Amino acid sequence: MKKYFTLIITLLFSLHLSAQKTIAVKCGNILDVRTGKLLSNQIIFINGNKIESITDATSFPKKADTVIDLSAYYVLPGLIDCHTHVLLQGDITSEDYDVQLLKESIPYRTIRATKSCKQALMNGFTTIRDLGTEGAGYADVDLKKAIANEVIPGPRMFVSTLAINTTGHYPVSEKDYAWELKMPKGLKEITGADEGRKAVREQIAYGADWIKIYADRGYQKLPNGDYRSIPNFTKEEIEAIADETIKSRRKLAAHAVTPDGIIYSINAGAKSIEHGFGMNEECMQLMVQKNVFWCPTIYVNDFVAEGRAKAGSPMNKFFAQTEPEVFKKAMKYGVKIAYGTDIGGYDWTEPQTKDFEFFIQYGMKPLQAIQTATINGAELLGETGLMGELVSGAFADIIAVKENPLNNIKILGNVKWVMKNGLVWKNEK
Ligand SMILES: [Zn+2]
Repeated sequence: MKKYFTLIITLLFSLHLSAQKTIAVKCGNILDVRTGKLLSNQIIFINGNKIESITDATSFPKKADTVIDLSAYYVLPGLIDCHTHVLLQGDITSEDYDVQLLKESIPYRTIRATKSCKQALMNGFTTIRDLGTEGAGYADVDLKKAIANEVIPGPRMFVSTLAINTTGHYPVSEKDYAWELKMPKGLKEITGADEGRKAVREQIAYGADWIKIYADRGYQKLPNGDYRSIPNFTKEEIEAIADETIKSRRKLAAHAVTPDGIIYSINAGAKSIEHGFGMNEECMQLMVQKNVFWCPTIYVNDFVAEGRAKAGSPMNKFFAQTEPEVFKKAMKYGVKIAYGTDIGGYDWTEPQTKDFEFFIQYGMKPLQAIQTATINGAELLGETGLMGELVSGAFADIIAVKENPLNNIKILGNVKWVMKNGLVWKNEK
């Protein structure tokens, strides 16, 4: 009896396997993002949602259910943006921000976010780490679920839900409104280590993959050129948050702009520093030593600088002036850089690939720039081998462009074809 049972199971299993759709993608050129080598006339064989094999077209032995012809294209892995806000639609000024939190319901903001998710995928980003819903509760968990269930188009999402700051240090700001009003907040405010732990536990319970903190505020440029800020958390608070995050097998991302916040966050256990515009050499050494990634978010800073300066806050302009030097130094020290745009902090109708151009302008080779949004992003997310490169066993997340991006990085802003999880989502061939 047991023998027959095993036989039936084996048959069912093989039927299931044969029921998986197979796709052969004929590629004119594949960019190996690890080596920078261009492999011409290749076939990517896809079974279900994974890449089964990549072979030379001349030695292709298998039949597939579907054949896709990308022989006139340059093919590379789907891109990874490690810093997005799908629930935000640009916030140059505090008014832009407040309007979204005070005049738009969370359902309305979520509907708008479905458009942002689609936009990210159409831009060629098949994976994003979304770093905070900015007052929209746990709606990022719902968006992630809707995408995973193919209810709406969008990238794979790693979500961080509310994000955490300390009491009184995040908009909507009490000082702009009548004090007797209870204003909604763009994140979870805590005071004390226990509240920090509770916030982390709650966010993980509701589906957070990452925990995001805002580590510093009140940025200043000193006459000697150094940047300073006020660390938001007490040592006990930040350590409690990091401890609870790490022991729950999650990772901590820290918005930290100057050495005060950056060093504090790294020593607590943060795995990525967001923005970091004012970092110094001590920060860079520590980042290398502790294997901490930097998401530089350059375009957003330049995008908001003028508007914020007009509104009386010139810091983004100062950061824009010093960022080429900071970036070059970080590269010299060997700081690992993951592509992160902060899109949503600038409008979703703006390009998501502008940071590539800045990276190259500041001294990166085109391949290194592409690696920030592929293998580096995958490493930061703990997904090496599953995304960010075209290898057997990886998710079938693939994009195609008309020119070699190593010769023309701007072509990444014009992705013609997108496959995610073995399904074609954009086809403008
Ligand atoms: Zn952000």
